[in-house]
Amino acid sequence: MNLVFLGPPGAGKGTIAAIAKDAFAIPHISTGDIFRANIKNETELGKLVKEIMASGNLVPDEVTIKMVEGRLGEEDAKKGYILDGFPRTIPQADALSRMSNVDKVINFVLPKEEILKRLSGRRVCKSTGRTYHIIYNPPKVEGIDDETGEPLIQRDDDKEEAILNRLEVYEKSTAPLIEYYKAKGLLVDLDCSGKPEDILEDLKKILL
Ligand code: ADP
Repeated sequence: MNLVFLGPPGAGKGTIAAIAKDAFAIPHISTGDIFRANIKNETELGKLVKEIMASGNLVPDEVTIKMVEGRLGEEDAKKGYILDGFPRTIPQADALSRMSNVDKVINFVLPKEEILKRLSGRRVCKSTGRTYHIIYNPPKVEGIDDETGEPLIQRDDDKEEAILNRLEVYEKSTAPLIEYYKAKGLLVDLDCSGKPEDILEDLKKILL
């Protein structure tokens, strides 16, 4: 099953993908996570994207497309994938359609006020990428990752100024993909206001 998770930042794509990948036995491919891993490991790609990401702007299409093409070529992606955070622009969607057949595009739907609340309370474990929310999904011990015991941090792009920019970028560059995939008959809306386990159940009903 080849899936695309589409939706504004903070809608919960990464959270749902992390549990859906086990339910569907397919890899979760998050372009944001891959970029962050490159930043952490100080690779050339990491150096290139660090400032762009911190400001909430998009990494150039050609860079992102090349990276995704490489990742989809890996063995584990042959049985299917959940793409989270890609495509984010029309040229990326066109490139994806040349690389692979998308079966369904899940459109994560959430009111804007809720998006802001979720993003500003998000905390992450730097080494594993596991995400928490200070109110909705707190760790067992405040500020500490449940499994590794490492301190949780706030992503640079979850600070208020970057959040507002990311929402603008989403409206301008990514939201047009809703119509794009609707026209291809691939789009399904998923209400993301509930709890992750309930959202996963709704997703299973859509897909299985
Ligand atoms: P979120 O969905 O919460 O905004 P992501 O982790 O998906 O977060 O992405 C974080 C940042 O990584 C984006 O703001 C952007 O700078 C970069 N990025 C991720 N995916 C893409 C993409 N497909 N095209 C361009 N930039 C991307």
